[in-house]
Amino acid sequence: MSGLDALYQDLILDHAKHPHGYGLADAEGRTADVHQRNPVCGDEITLRLRLDGDTVRDVTWEGAGCSISQASASMLASLVGGDGMPRATASALIDGFRASLRSRGTIPLDEERFGDAAALSGVSKYTARVKCAMLAWVALEEALLLA
Ligand code: ZN
Repeated sequence: MSGLDALYQDLILDHAKHPHGYGLADAEGRTADVHQRNPVCGDEITLRLRLDGDTVRDVTWEGAGCSISQASASMLASLVGGDGMPRATASALIDGFRASLRSRGTIPLDEERFGDAAALSGVSKYTARVKCAMLAWVALEEALLLA
């Protein structure tokens, strides 16, 4: 973590302490639940996706683990949920996030597109932590396939 920009580190810790979308919403309408684990670090997440037609209604989650995994889930929930995002846009964001996180720092995340989650760009330099940052995004990807 020491190589991460200090401002970004603050944002990550802030999301980890005050997570967005924490606590599963009522399972009504079109809903998909996914559980994902990252055994390397001990991170776990249960993510619930709710859709209205082809629009993401919200993303809520519960979990435990390191601050990167928890912050990433919080950033994802605030980015994708609540603003009527089409499911195709959400899928494209997941693809873009993965490409950046696997780029070892060569493809930074665009703040306009990824919001607070752009703070996770620096994680791509730490291969061991990429799975932590990806956990919630992989869960949402699976939920989009199920819903
Ligand atoms: Zn972790």
